[in-house]
Amino acid sequence: MSDGSAIEWTDATWNPVRGCTKVSPGCKHCYAETFAERWRGIPDHPYGQGFDLRLVPEKLDEPLRWRRPRRIFVNSMSDLFQVGVDADFIRRVFNTMDAASWHTYQVLTKRADRMLAATKAMPRALVEQPHIWLGVSVEDRRYGLPRIDLLRQTPAAVRFLSIEPLLEDLGPLDLAGIHWVIVGGESGPGARPMSPAWVTSIQRQCRAQRVPFFFKQWGGVQKSKAGRELGGRTWDEFPAVPASQGKRRSSALVTLQ
Ligand code: SF4
Repeated sequence: MSDGSAIEWTDATWNPVRGCTKVSPGCKHCYAETFAERWRGIPDHPYGQGFDLRLVPEKLDEPLRWRRPRRIFVNSMSDLFQVGVDADFIRRVFNTMDAASWHTYQVLTKRADRMLAATKAMPRALVEQPHIWLGVSVEDRRYGLPRIDLLRQTPAAVRFLSIEPLLEDLGPLDLAGIHWVIVGGESGPGARPMSPAWVTSIQRQCRAQRVPFFFKQWGGVQKSKAGRELGGRTWDEFPAVPASQGKRRSSALVTLQ
């Protein structure tokens, strides 16, 4: 993918890992797989191996070359914590995030158990930094909710949930230790519908528990038609980190409401 991104909650994508395997219902219409498989067999294309897992060490230092601070979605085309990515490579990704600390990194996984184990094995000073945000995907109760508990145990200065595609009513949510919630519906061919009541339930709980809420999209087969307004407006809240971007920032965290 290019370094620019059309994803509403980020500025750029960085993919030192490419390819993945499906783990839960949220993966059913994985956009990364659809994109990658389009290029399978094309010689010299970055996705010439389709969606097969591939480590890309030559991409590891890419954020160091981006001088302007950006919000960077780490591995938008993969999952950093899948079994095929060894601990040393994960550590190298964190080393880059530590070195290029003028950016903000959004690391999102469905392998919450491995993220917990991998981050606990690294120095806390490396992992727990306000510019490194660790998050889990939550699409339903069965697979998604247990990931929230694992995330809560994960050492991180900022923890977030990407509740997308939201596939059912999640019921009561414990948002203790969670600093940001993104909600979105599935888009594209065969998109599974999302009920407004499921969204407003999450929004209410975010407000009650003082967690910033970002509504990404309604989704649907034609997502531009459905838009991203909820209750007549957009919801683009973010966790607020100390203004001084850069190494050794204060870890005090303020949330916007
Ligand atoms: S974990 Fe993410 S990248 Fe991997 S298959 Fe599922 S949706 Fe796609």
